[in-house]
Amino acid sequence: MDFAKMPDGLVPVIVQDAQTGQVLMLGYQNEEALAKTQQEGRVTFFSRSKQRLWTKGETSGNFLTVVSIHPDCDQDALLILATPDGPTCHRGTTSCFEQPEQVAYPAPAVSFVAELERLVQRRHRFPDEDPKSYTASLFRKGIPKMAQKVGEEAVETVIDAVAGNRDGLQGEAADLLYHLLVLLTASGLSLENVVDVLRQRHSTISQGVRREE
Ligand code: AMP
Ligand code: ZN
Ligand code: ZN
Ligand code: ZN
Repeated sequence: MDFAKMPDGLVPVIVQDAQTGQVLMLGYQNEEALAKTQQEGRVTFFSRSKQRLWTKGETSGNFLTVVSIHPDCDQDALLILATPDGPTCHRGTTSCFEQPEQVAYPAPAVSFVAELERLVQRRHRFPDEDPKSYTASLFRKGIPKMAQKVGEEAVETVIDAVAGNRDGLQGEAADLLYHLLVLLTASGLSLENVVDVLRQRHSTISQGVRREE
């Protein structure tokens, strides 16, 4: 980064959720803010309103843990992939580009599945946080019960698909996906692990290697 050639020595920094891909916020860094971010592994900006270094989360506790840092093509902007501890916006929304009521910027579909997985993982870690949580109640019942739910939802999905019931299929596929996330989480696996297998197969196929069904 060539901070000296930037106005006020500041580069714009886009922070993106490393797991969901959602754009969380935009801030600015000077050389010192970037150095602190790299040293501590938490995103620190130079706040233009406060005129000082500002570590996102310093009062709210919602830090942004750095996964990777990427300069742009001509070294005058940064992309930081990070894992947020909680809502990034001070208004309580996941992203600063999301409107509290209107959902003007909903996460892209696949990102939302990752966001849902994060909530499921949270329920697994803190099952007593929400006494009314259905997810937590599933975790308490154990893996055989969760596996049974996946089986049931899979059968319901199959029935609606074969019957040509698209509305039913949509709902049952959602049930299936959710219960699969719960089962994976209880089994110590994540969507990432499953996607790794798909990626592996994809690269094998694109290299022209035939695969057994
Ligand atoms: P935090 O850094 O989360 O502890 O929040 C401290 C203060 O920084 C808040 O009270 C806001 O004034 C401001 N702030 C927090 N998050 C954001 C954000 N995403 N964008 C702009 N300002 C923020
Ligand atoms: Zn650029
Ligand atoms: Zn905000
Ligand atoms: Zn169902």
